[in-house]
Amino acid sequence: MTYPDTQLFIGGTWRAAQDGRTIPVLDPATEEEIGRVAHAGIPDLDAALEAAAGAFPGWAGTGAFDRYKLMRRAAELLRERSDAIAAIMTAEQGKPLGQSRLEVLGGADTIDWFAEEARRTYGQVIPARQGGVTQITIKQPVGPVAAFTPWNFPINQVVRKLSAALAAGCSIIVKAPEETPASPAELIRCFADAGVPDGVVNLVYGDPAEISGYLIPHPIIRKISFTGSTPVGKQLASLAGAHMKKATMELGGHAPVLIFEDADIDRAISTMAATKFRNAGQVCVSPTRFLVQDGVADRFVDGFTEAAKAIKVGAGSDPETEMGPLANERRIPALQRMIEDAISKGARMTTGGKRIGNQGWFFEPTVLADVPTSAAIMNEEPFGPVAVINRFDTVDAALAEANRLPFGLASYAFTSSAATAHRLEQEVRAGMLTMNHIGLALPEVPFGGIGDSGIGTEGGSDAIEAYLDTRFVTRLD
Ligand code: NAD
Repeated sequence: MTYPDTQLFIGGTWRAAQDGRTIPVLDPATEEEIGRVAHAGIPDLDAALEAAAGAFPGWAGTGAFDRYKLMRRAAELLRERSDAIAAIMTAEQGKPLGQSRLEVLGGADTIDWFAEEARRTYGQVIPARQGGVTQITIKQPVGPVAAFTPWNFPINQVVRKLSAALAAGCSIIVKAPEETPASPAELIRCFADAGVPDGVVNLVYGDPAEISGYLIPHPIIRKISFTGSTPVGKQLASLAGAHMKKATMELGGHAPVLIFEDADIDRAISTMAATKFRNAGQVCVSPTRFLVQDGVADRFVDGFTEAAKAIKVGAGSDPETEMGPLANERRIPALQRMIEDAISKGARMTTGGKRIGNQGWFFEPTVLADVPTSAAIMNEEPFGPVAVINRFDTVDAALAEANRLPFGLASYAFTSSAATAHRLEQEVRAGMLTMNHIGLALPEVPFGGIGDSGIGTEGGSDAIEAYLDTRFVTRLD
């Protein structure tokens, strides 16, 4: 595989930045420069805005069935190219090849789902109070979209926003991640090759703050979608609010995992160890605070620690690898700080805790037990391969800890009691709860947070609504 340099895609052409600037792309497994990505300046953003504005009326006016057919073609191209794109993703992001391939194929499923949804943006006929009056609602695309996506799932994060926008009839400017630029560019190429009209899809990279600061207030942009950290999300949501733009915010989490004595503990250990260390823990829905009922807590800590020790860490290109390196260097000091802080406050480390070697950003799968709530890691998203395991006695205590933080993205639970399951269903404050299995993030189910974890959903039948305006018309015949 030859790793490609990445260009901007504006108005249907792949091009360098007007001032020729580029940013290096590094392989997280070797720290070597493997390519470069174009760094857009304001003139490039102006060109993208003009292209998105120019293409919007035509795309909005394209029949839903034609949009659906075109998107289905893009999904097929993505499937055909999945092996090549997965290799590119692993080179730039670090995750094991198998996980990259699943992400690409999952991207195709997401396109299919939203393509179908394009055909179901139904309005309503509302019974009128008065004879001879017809009352209807019409769904119309909101306008050109600006989407900002991070480096942890280079394709998945783009495809949710891109597919929903296109299905709704919006044009879009995607600001994809500078650290992992080439795989999202290949996703965009599938749409271009499928025949999406010029200007409907535009792709830029550069200085994230400069781009968001320019695009969000710009009058051409009518809708913002962002995935990333809560502090940045709050800034961008404020900016969107100041300019009265619709905004979807998919932000950080700190997922609790509630494990009760009546659960299948072995299943909980094996399922959650695989889930925790997937993508080296750099997942917004990653399980973070494991809360285990007293009677099974020691067994869970021992079993989970053994599972963490057994994980094969290595380059994502090695078929034996189960966990790749961290995607960027800044995660290493961030994790070390949180681990040292937890230990200094009395936590017990049962495995891991440090960087592996000195080339590539590899980090040991780490388990911390009995961590006081004053520790930073109990309050900040670790975004890395670190699990925290604490204990509880009653359902009330478990719920109190699960709901202690302002985040509310994913949550997990294992119990065989219908009564406990019902309480959790009603009382865990999180956008998503998965019990006794892992069932999150399919295209057809909601994906989003409450509280500080964000606004809106990027999955399920509600997701497309964020890209539509609802208009009301009443007529007396
Ligand atoms: P960061 O907060 O600097 O950046 C997170 C993402 O936001 C990146 O993709 C970045 O390009 C983008 N970003 C930052 N400032 C921006 C701005 N002003 N305008 C537009 N985009 C902007 O942090 P980081 O070091 O890249 O990642 C670390 C933290 O980010 C993690 O701890 C995690 O909380 C969060 N994060 C969350 C997700 C997610 O899936 N929700 C993904 C990646 C990172």
